[in-house]
Amino acid sequence: MSPFAIDKRDIQFCLFEYLDVEQLCKLPKYTEHNRELFDMVIDEATKFAVDVLAPLNPILDQQGVQFDKGKVTLPKECHEVYNKFRDAGWVSPSGSPEFGGQGLPLILNTAITEIQGSASMAFLMCPGLTRAAGHVIEISGTEEMKKLYLEKLYTGIWGGTMCLTESSAGSAVGDIRSKAKKDGDSYLIEGEKIFISFGDHDLVDNIVHLVLARTEGAPKGIKGISLFLVPKFLVNDDGSVGEFNHVSCGNIEHKMGIKGSPTCTIIFGDGGPSRGWLIGEECAGIRFMFQMMNEARIGVGLQGLGAAAASYQEALQFAIERIQGVDMKDMKDVDAPRVPIIKHPDIRRSLLTMKAFVEGMRALIYTTAKCGDLSVHAVDDEIKAHNKLMLDLLTPICKAYCSDWGFNMTAIGIQVFGGYGYTREYPVEQYCRDAKIASIYEGTNGIQALDLLGRKVAGKGGASFMTFLNHINGFIDDNSEHSVVGPYVQKIAKTRDTLTQVVMHFQKVGMDGDFYYPLVHATPFLDMFGTLVMAFFLADMGIVADKKLSAIFEEAGASSDEDKLKVVDGNPEAKFYDGKLHSMRFYIDTYLPHAEAIAETIQSGNRSPLDVNF
Ligand SMILES: Cc1cc2nc3c(=O)[nH]c(=O)nc-3n(C[C@H](O)[C@H](O)[C@H](O)COP(=O)(O)OP(=O)(O)OC[C@H]3O[C@@H](n4cnc5c(N)ncnc54)[C@H](O)[C@@H]3O)c2cc1C
Repeated sequence: MSPFAIDKRDIQFCLFEYLDVEQLCKLPKYTEHNRELFDMVIDEATKFAVDVLAPLNPILDQQGVQFDKGKVTLPKECHEVYNKFRDAGWVSPSGSPEFGGQGLPLILNTAITEIQGSASMAFLMCPGLTRAAGHVIEISGTEEMKKLYLEKLYTGIWGGTMCLTESSAGSAVGDIRSKAKKDGDSYLIEGEKIFISFGDHDLVDNIVHLVLARTEGAPKGIKGISLFLVPKFLVNDDGSVGEFNHVSCGNIEHKMGIKGSPTCTIIFGDGGPSRGWLIGEECAGIRFMFQMMNEARIGVGLQGLGAAAASYQEALQFAIERIQGVDMKDMKDVDAPRVPIIKHPDIRRSLLTMKAFVEGMRALIYTTAKCGDLSVHAVDDEIKAHNKLMLDLLTPICKAYCSDWGFNMTAIGIQVFGGYGYTREYPVEQYCRDAKIASIYEGTNGIQALDLLGRKVAGKGGASFMTFLNHINGFIDDNSEHSVVGPYVQKIAKTRDTLTQVVMHFQKVGMDGDFYYPLVHATPFLDMFGTLVMAFFLADMGIVADKKLSAIFEEAGASSDEDKLKVVDGNPEAKFYDGKLHSMRFYIDTYLPHAEAIAETIQSGNRSPLDVNF
């Protein structure tokens, strides 16, 4: 079996050649950063992922989490890895250095998370949730909260969670029943949350829960929800761990995947009072929680990407090594040499599908993270506003498109392995099981589709949608005559027109009073939108790749097709850029037409899901 691998070359391309992340070092926030630092961080993250996290992944899957007499325990190997991870400062790469974070841009944090999460998705959830909880406290918590909790979270001494879900309040967050009763300068929290990731475990001394609950007399629904910080153990004034705060674990779930991530029922006010502290104002909890969830949604898209990327690397290696059958042109010759399966056209198509999706999803998510950086740290207010609108629009696409298609890519990975892919001998079946959850939590993909259509395309007078359209229009105007990429840009222009037609179709149907029709077609719409976005990113990267490849050809004096092929064969950089162009061609020729087909289904007028008598 080949060792776990990361496509560091493509990550570097995406960060430095495509998104020019070094430019961020000119912002006042990042003046102390430079390319050398970024390279070092990516190298170290890769090394840690390959040497430490990847070997832990099957252990977590096979041993899972134990629950006995109210205690949740993780395998001893996980403790060793967690300690190394924490000591190396990986818990909070983008957290504020004032509180123990590394202060890196969000986009770097994103690349690190992809690398480490593709090595062990279940493990990464623990620091991921901790850093997200810390970030809410950093942005919205009181000075006292920052003093007592933030450094402990950002350095991984304590863990963090987000506690939204209850048995009858999953997608419908507004239906939560957990209660918060004011008691002096804090609140007494009572209620039962389910499915809480890393809700309890023995990797850390204390767990800081961010809990949605309802204060007395609060209005019904989403507008009556407040956010509270509720530690498992109270914290003394000197920062030490104090008394038990009556936050207990009632049970853990037995799941299809991410078996190393405890999914807990957490009871607040179990046998005694659970004390919590309000974050922000009463009844404004959802606003603060959304800040955490929007970041987490990009993180969940990243889980889809990470699993797909890991599966692609395994499948590629396997296809190079696995010998089966003969070249199809020699099929009648029983003595023909046996070939590796990478010679078979169907396997080549599968591998290029995985490669193209992984590269497109990477560009989509990294770009969204860069929008996150610029929406907060750009100097110019207009740039900030532009990036915020792009961030808003792209977030549900990152979450839903990358989790759905990331999962699909892991299934293709299994297929490349044949029977071996279905066995535990190879890790691809685990990647597939682990990846499935990404389409469910942090707001199911059905909810993301409603968010995209209702809030992001139609909301704010269409400002996010128009910003995106202007962005893609500029790209099309600049590049539709490009000698290599131009024909693909023209296909993108056609699908852009189709997308705007579909949006107008939804508007018309809505104005005609058919409220449900757009809702039935929201999920296909997100898929269509995501397909166009992916085609755009692949073509935009294609422009960069073509320029670099042309320079290599020129330097090598290669002008004929034959000479160029020779250069691609013998020069790894030329091979890389040529491969990027093939990803673009393949996706746009064979997947972009799906967007046109989806548009046809949306405009078909079909209402059967609404009319059928189940
Ligand atoms: C492994 C795991 C880890 C989790 N971690 C956490 C965590 O850390 N913290 C936390 O708070 N929660 C967590 N969750 C909960 C998760 O966020 C919820 O499962 C998810 O939001 C869906 O809620 P539900 O399971 O109640 O499904 P439901 O809301 O009942 O949804 C069932 C189906 O109906 C659809 N649906 C529901 N309402 C609508 C609607 N209005 N329109 C269209 N479709 C709709 C959904 O898309 C879904 O397909 C976790 C869940 C799992 C399985």
